[in-house]
Amino acid sequence: MRLLLAEDDLMLGDGLRAGLRQQGFQVDWVRDGIAAELEIASGDYQAAVLDLGLPRKDGLEVLQALRGRGIATPVLVLTARDTVPDRIKGLDMGADDYVLKPVDLFELGARLRSLVRRSHGQVQNLLSCGSVQMNLAARLVLQDDQPVALSTREFDLLHALLLNRNRVLSREQLEQQLYSWGYEVESNAVEVHIHHLRKKLGADLIRTVRGVGYTLLRPKGLA
Ligand code: CA
Repeated sequence: MRLLLAEDDLMLGDGLRAGLRQQGFQVDWVRDGIAAELEIASGDYQAAVLDLGLPRKDGLEVLQALRGRGIATPVLVLTARDTVPDRIKGLDMGADDYVLKPVDLFELGARLRSLVRRSHGQVQNLLSCGSVQMNLAARLVLQDDQPVALSTREFDLLHALLLNRNRVLSREQLEQQLYSWGYEVESNAVEVHIHHLRKKLGADLIRTVRGVGYTLLRPKGLA
């Protein structure tokens, strides 16, 4: 899944980006509040990690502006301000969760997965469609209880489709979820990953909606 990281401290930002990438997140990094607001508002991100003490625009002001505009992207606030009034203020302004500095990278990863899951109405760390099951915490895919080896991109693509089971996702929407800044995306990259997923998981799982995009086939018996 694709994340926006807003952190002005270069060492911390670099460490957070590396640690989150290791956990399979696609991470774009901005260093001030104005850029953070602009990027989160773009709708390209499944979640954002927002430092509160940012130059040009404070994190709390960024949050307030976003929520005021009706932008609901889940935001996890990063703060050294471990005081109750600050936390209450952040939550009141629409933060979805908090992590205190110094940051535990694995806690941060777990909280982000949980935020994104909840924002899609999922209560568990498992996603499934028919005989295919995805365990997000372990980044593992099973089909009929047998592990299936997927590349990072294949996993992320399947994840996007599972999170949006009732929607058709266009190729552009899938590209946005798969690639962070600085990647040259081959024009047929999504088609190639879909092709590989079909080879690994069966031709029936992913349906092409001609001229629109892709969706998961609903298992028989479900409306
Ligand atoms: Ca800061």
